[in-house]
Amino acid sequence: MEKYDVAIIGSGPGGYVCAIRCAQLGMKTVLIEKYSSLGGTCLNVGCIPSKALLDSSEHYHQAKHQFEEHGIGLKDLKVNFEQMIKRKRGVVEQTVGGIDFLMKKNKIDVLTGTASFESNTVINIEGEKTSKIEAKKVVIATGSKPGSLPFITLDKERVITSTEALELKEIPKKMIVIGGGVIGLELGSVYARLGTEVSVVEYMDGIIPTMDKTMGKELQKSLKKIGIEFYLSHKVKSVQNTGKSVTVKADNKKGEEISLEADCCLVSVGRTPYTKGLGLDKAGVKLDDRGRVEVDGHLKTNVDNIYAIGDVVKGAMLAHKAEEEGMFVAEHMNGEHPHIDYNLIPGVVYTWPEVASVGQTEEQLKESGRAYKAGSFPFKASGRARASMDTDGVVKVLADKETDEVLGVHIIGPRAADMIAEAVVAMEFRATAEDISRMSHAHPTFTEALKEAALAATDNRAIHI
Ligand code: FAD
Ligand code: NAD
Repeated sequence: MEKYDVAIIGSGPGGYVCAIRCAQLGMKTVLIEKYSSLGGTCLNVGCIPSKALLDSSEHYHQAKHQFEEHGIGLKDLKVNFEQMIKRKRGVVEQTVGGIDFLMKKNKIDVLTGTASFESNTVINIEGEKTSKIEAKKVVIATGSKPGSLPFITLDKERVITSTEALELKEIPKKMIVIGGGVIGLELGSVYARLGTEVSVVEYMDGIIPTMDKTMGKELQKSLKKIGIEFYLSHKVKSVQNTGKSVTVKADNKKGEEISLEADCCLVSVGRTPYTKGLGLDKAGVKLDDRGRVEVDGHLKTNVDNIYAIGDVVKGAMLAHKAEEEGMFVAEHMNGEHPHIDYNLIPGVVYTWPEVASVGQTEEQLKESGRAYKAGSFPFKASGRARASMDTDGVVKVLADKETDEVLGVHIIGPRAADMIAEAVVAMEFRATAEDISRMSHAHPTFTEALKEAALAATDNRAIHI
């Protein structure tokens, strides 16, 4: 039986990053993945393919709705959806191929098959070949799967999850999205841009309800412009595939029923941690009350040599959060003292405009009683945004009322996903709003809107509004 310093189960962004860091630190490392394609949800059926389709559909949408204004005429514009999906597959293949290369480069053994514990140090791998390995330390990085509601049958034809929505054979005429969170709005945007009539049914009274409320309100306005309909404060009670279509029934808060019909229904009500078939009981590893692997502040389970990271443990289900935890665990196992500030893990929604956020929301600050000040700057006042016809959105900076320390930055607008990095750096170094406002920002750029919002927060000193 082959012996390793560390075995990592699952090759998503948590698992493969952890494997590379372990190898860099000189540990003999094995990565076990049940699929032949490495990279987990993120690379195969998550972040990467969804962004490929978001980019393709946004190009089409711009060509259709904005090129004329730019003075560009296009005749016979049409979508070749098969090619769009083919390109997306190509992007995934290339990205996944990159992980194979990194495993070889770092001399990490890769085993294909489903891993299950025989004990806390012995792992069985069942794939085309069955094998067994022994490891001093084990990292569980088995990620998550799409969640659903108890009364819904995910038939994967008409009632689908994000995985099927990334591989549709044709553009649906109508689509119902259950859940106005990240997946529902990103994939709903893809199809709305391509001409699908999209209806979003959301249980809460706003979309992206965990983010700062201003973001949800502004995003809803922008998404309405591309034709998405919203049914907020509606509780879905039935989803029926009738053969030729799907019918979704939901009640509003007064108990009034709506009935929607479409070609397909995307169920995007959250994801659930994945531990099936791992044999956790044989290793004695405990789950928490929500089915996640229970870990302490060092991401260690109740079993001394077993750690867990990423979507399978508590916290935001984000690729970069999983990566940070992968690095953390590798370094902790090596006797180092790494640190993760979970408050400074940014969240991004890749709609257009994009939404990006770090730190506390205004609602959280109010609830905690922290005295704060807020400064905002709308993109319609930005020269760069006018030049590119991307004037929807706003930057909001929240800072401590007394010390001026930045407590939260919330951006809805063009390239918000990239812009949020500046706020993360500033907050990592505990910058004040005035610090951001005194740094030179190249002109004309979208980032000037952050400087202006920081000026607004500092002393209501924004220049361009
Ligand atoms: P995963 O990526 O889920 O990987 C777990 C791996 O473990 C899988 O490959 C699985 O096959 C394997 N596995 C499970 N059990 C076993 C076993 N017993 N033996 C062997 N292998 C096993 N996050 C972002 O930050 N940005 C985005 O833009 C983004 N977009 C997304 C879009 C969609 C449509 C979806 C669904 C998710 C998106 N996410 C995004 C979330 C992101 O994909 C996850 O947070 C991330 O993949 C979690 O990484 P992980 O390593 O914990 O697990
Ligand atoms: P989510 O938690 O973002 O959104 C789920 C939404 O469904 C919520 O708004 C919730 O209120 C609503 N909901 C729940 N039950 C409902 C019901 N019965 N009826 C109507 N609405 C209901 O979950 P998701 O969109 O499925 O995404 C899953 C995870 O994947 C998220 O945690 C997210 O972090 C991750 N993800 C991230 C990105 C990104 O970073 N850009 C993209 C996609 C997915």
